[in-house]
Amino acid sequence: MNAQILSIGTELVLGQSLDTNSPWLSQQLAAIGIDCTRHVTVGDELDDIIAAIRLACDESDLVLITGGLGPTADDLTREALAAAMGVELVFRPECLEQIAAFFRERKREMHERNRVQAMIPDGATPIENTRGTAPGMRAKIGRAEVFVMPGVPAEMKVMFEGDVLPALRSIVDARGGAGGVIVQRTLRTLGMPESELGEKIVDLMARGRNPTVGTAAVDLVISIRINARASTPEEAAAIAERDATEIRKRLGAYVFGEDNDQVETAVARLLIEKKKTVATAESCTGGLVAKRLTDISGSSAYFLRGYVTYSNEAKSELLGVPMAMIDSHGAVSEPVARAMAEGCRRASGTDYALAVTGVAGPTGGTAQKPVGMVFVALAAADRTIVKELRLGESLLRGEIRDRSAKAVINLLRLELLKQNL
Ligand code: AMP
Ligand code: MG
Repeated sequence: MNAQILSIGTELVLGQSLDTNSPWLSQQLAAIGIDCTRHVTVGDELDDIIAAIRLACDESDLVLITGGLGPTADDLTREALAAAMGVELVFRPECLEQIAAFFRERKREMHERNRVQAMIPDGATPIENTRGTAPGMRAKIGRAEVFVMPGVPAEMKVMFEGDVLPALRSIVDARGGAGGVIVQRTLRTLGMPESELGEKIVDLMARGRNPTVGTAAVDLVISIRINARASTPEEAAAIAERDATEIRKRLGAYVFGEDNDQVETAVARLLIEKKKTVATAESCTGGLVAKRLTDISGSSAYFLRGYVTYSNEAKSELLGVPMAMIDSHGAVSEPVARAMAEGCRRASGTDYALAVTGVAGPTGGTAQKPVGMVFVALAAADRTIVKELRLGESLLRGEIRDRSAKAVINLLRLELLKQNL
């Protein structure tokens, strides 16, 4: 059984607000084994919405629609659904009563305009909205089951969980099952380029396998998504686990976590487990490393202090980096990164110290030291590691800072695992 999700709203196609409903709904569908093949976003234009509904109903068994159910003139989903069904809108007194009750309970006056929300296409079934005024709707167009829900995410979710999901379960059962459930796992990696990573798991990414395996790169982190299908959640989880184990074996310490894990989550776990402490000395990241390390509740167990040493004087006064070294090598250099990390560790008395110095741009780059050139360093009791990053001049300042922070935290993660990648 396959599905499409339509989101309706001019604010969405103009890019003024983000469609969060469709991703959420896709995940809910996956959990009951329904494949979503397409997300379509349409502005508040009657003809466009009608065309999108018709096309989706031609192509899919199930169409979920959100948005355009408000009381104002730009909310056209009711009319569009009626047109796509080839019927008229009819007034449903029981819907108006629910809308009126919504206002009564909140001691608010109902506006005359809210009456249009009680207009439902002839033959469609209204779905009560317990969180807002706009009723949802259920209809059948051709072979497609259609559910329309409000655009407001909180209202949509309550309606989906309360009414739509149970209805979907019975539809799926009536068809003798959707083909089982889909269980998703996401492994998160850092440090291996996507092409190389893709090469290492190319056989697992082959089309037509169960599970399906795919990669997605966002800001240095490459996520590997595993979608397993089986008739029970336990079976699907076992199938996903097999590939997850194989991928972890092949990629080793490049995998830092799963699902929503950040590299600092992994570092925090290791620091706490090994009872180690860390301090930071940052130039171009301006405190981002410290921020990330302290984003985690309980970070006082391992994070002792952070220096933001933006000027040469600060590097010298607070971290003991010799002025002569800065003069001869420049603030963005291997020796200065090393001296910052070692000085920070000495001043803080921590087990580890992290340091970052680089050119975040967009100005300040030179031929020798282009934008995106960053040195990240880690000082430990027995050694100091410095790594030169060339993040590329095409990146934005924010991206360079973000990636530098992740890279230096990853250095610490690998040190804690005693792995050199
Ligand atoms: P509507 O049902 O079109 O009146 O939508 C009401 C509000 O819900 C809009 O102003 C948006 O802020 C929000 N909204 C609508 N569609 C979506 C969507 N697909 N994802 C997230 N928010 C949405
Ligand atoms: Mg709208």
